[in-house]
Amino acid sequence: MTAIGFIGLGNMGLPMSLNLIKAGHQVTGFDLNADAVQSFAAAGGHVAADAASAAQAGEVVITMLPAGAQVRQVYSESILPSVKDALLMDCSTIDVDTAREVAAMAAAAGMEMLDAPVSGGTGGAEAGTLTFMVGGSDASFAAAKPYFDIMGATIVHTGGVGNGQAAKICNNMILAISMIGVAEAFTMGERLGVDAQTLFDITSTSSGQCWAINTYCPVPGPVPGSPANRDFKAGFTAAMMLKDLRLSQDAAKSSDTASPLGSEAEKLFSEFVDGGNGSYDFSAIIRMIAAR
Ligand code: NAD
Repeated sequence: MTAIGFIGLGNMGLPMSLNLIKAGHQVTGFDLNADAVQSFAAAGGHVAADAASAAQAGEVVITMLPAGAQVRQVYSESILPSVKDALLMDCSTIDVDTAREVAAMAAAAGMEMLDAPVSGGTGGAEAGTLTFMVGGSDASFAAAKPYFDIMGATIVHTGGVGNGQAAKICNNMILAISMIGVAEAFTMGERLGVDAQTLFDITSTSSGQCWAINTYCPVPGPVPGSPANRDFKAGFTAAMMLKDLRLSQDAAKSSDTASPLGSEAEKLFSEFVDGGNGSYDFSAIIRMIAAR
């Protein structure tokens, strides 16, 4: 049994922390949101009064926060001032530069932080089948792997610190582009007289198949667990997807990479979020496509 501090018990962090508890670890958690804390406590988690106390309680400290600003804040104000010796892992999706800066702050305090963003959605978090993309040293990767193995099914060491985030934003740029394509196709299919289930049966087994269809189909019916069946309650919010697309376009510029479809996806998600839809699941973009 390992003592684990877990900060950020939201859509992803809560089910990830619960899998660590189920595996027999003692998890002490904190979140600013009282509902999240209550669900965590009900499932057997130890609740900390603040982020510093959660961090202090762990030999392993995991963060699963919205974006780079929160990760930087929690590390500089709560984790690094109160923890002397722990294995640090940030599983949030943030920009490469912030990941490397926070890791440098941790190194100055004598600890290593792995950047370990995930893919697989809330379903993957619940099932313990996430993909982890991990940046950091060989030794820290080996030390952290048993915990990733509990929360995930595919664990990839992508290189030095920051490389996990680099792989993650490439993945999410593909996801945003493919979800928009799927939304266009399912809207057009319906207007041409092909019902959604029939189109799903074909595309999910043909060359158009992708995660946005097979696991997360944005129309009600074909994939019962997808957010389309629950009025697009998130899952993965449109605001988070816009954050990741902005990260991808910053990275495209800094790496001198042409990204015409990534750029268009950023514009479409920006319009969708500006229209007041940021808290819906990102797959709800089909509503905007259908309304045009
Ligand atoms: P979320 O908003 O549901 O959860 C984030 C949690 O962090 C919230 O409960 C919030 O209250 C808490 N929080 C914010 N600031 C805090 C602070 N200072 N101290 C303590 N708690 C704080 O978001 P999520 O969907 O769980 O996503 C978390 C991260 O995982 C994001 O970076 C996201 O991009 C990434 N991600 C999400 C998904 C998904 O499908 N939801 C998939 C892969 C990656």
